[in-house]
This record gives sequence, C-alpha cells and structure tokens, in this order.
Amino acid sequence: MFAKVKRERRVINVTEIQEARGEPGALETLKGMGVTLKHLINRARGDDPTIYYPEERRPYSGRFRGAHILTTREDGSPKCVACYLCATACPADCIYIEAAESPDPMIEKYPAVFNIDLLRCVYCGYCVDACPEEAIIMSREYDIAAYTREETVYNKEKLMRRPQIAQSGLGYRPIKIDEYRKG
Ligand code: SF4
Ligand code: SF4
Repeated sequence: MFAKVKRERRVINVTEIQEARGEPGALETLKGMGVTLKHLINRARGDDPTIYYPEERRPYSGRFRGAHILTTREDGSPKCVACYLCATACPADCIYIEAAESPDPMIEKYPAVFNIDLLRCVYCGYCVDACPEEAIIMSREYDIAAYTREETVYNKEKLMRRPQIAQSGLGYRPIKIDEYRKG
C-alpha cells in the first residue's frame, strides 16, 4: 500500500503582491520607454522583426506539410496508379479516389477522381509516406482561404496544377523527388 501524500497548496494572491510592490515609479517607466526606444532604433537600422504578410512571407522548411501536390508524368498525366494506399493510410479519411482503367497499356489504373478534403486533413504526411509511386507530395502552401466549404476540397486538376505550387514551393516529399517539375 502506498501512503497518501498530502501536498500543501500554495495560493498566490496577485493583488497582494502588487500592493506590496507599490505603484511603478519613474525608474520603471523609464525602463519601459528604453525598450520602446531600442526597438525604434533597431527598426530605423533595418533590423525589423515584423513580417509584412502577405507581401512578405516567412521562409519555411522544405519539410513543411502544406497543401498536397499530385505529381505528373512528362505527358502531364498523374503519376498516381490509384492503388488507394494513401487513402488507406489517411487517419482523417479525407482522400477520395475513384479508380479507372488506364488508356496506357503499360499502366493498369489511374485516378478518374482524386479529391482531398483539406479542411479534414491534419497534414500528417502519412499519405506521402504510403505512396509507392511518389505520386503525392506536399507543398509549403499554408494560406488556404475559401468562401465555401466545397472550395476546400481539392480535386485532381487542382492538386496537379495550381499557381500556388510554384509560389510556395515543395514541402514534405521523398528525397528523390527534388527534381519534380512544378506544374
Ligand atoms: S496529410 Fe494526413 S490527414 Fe492529410 S490527406 Fe495525407 S494522410 Fe490524410
Ligand atoms: S497517390 Fe500514391 S498511394 Fe495514393 S492512390 Fe495514387 S499511387 Fe496510390
């Protein structure tokens, strides 16, 4: 049997502490003004920590997990072979694929429909890890804004080609795919 240890609770009364310290004097005010002045001087020197979004953007790591990209072959068709591994691995159940017979006799299937619900996605990257074809990777696109719920469901065309891919750059992906042609 373990003996029950009773811990004494320490009550911190903020009001009492403030009253004991008294009103801030001239020295504290001057110290505060000094901090403000220091930042003003730093800013005048060009050392400004503020990022003026959206004109300026923070540089993110190449491992950033942003909106997905479906990679393409040289002829522009998706590399995806509709194996459903990504959809099976997805913990958020947000990938929807409809497989169809590929017109290329060397390829068995292709995704006639490939949708990702980006509002359900938790950006874990499991789909990228599961893909045997390096057909799905992530971008560094993080500012996904929409007026309707439907707009946040990215279809195959949007996953393969959208201007934001070139703007944001590639994110989490297999190392080998660094030469991927941005669509
Ligand atoms: S990043 Fe994670 S949650 Fe999002 S689609 Fe891929 S597996 Fe699903
Ligand atoms: S993206 Fe990759 S894992 Fe997902 S269905 Fe296509 S080939 Fe399979």
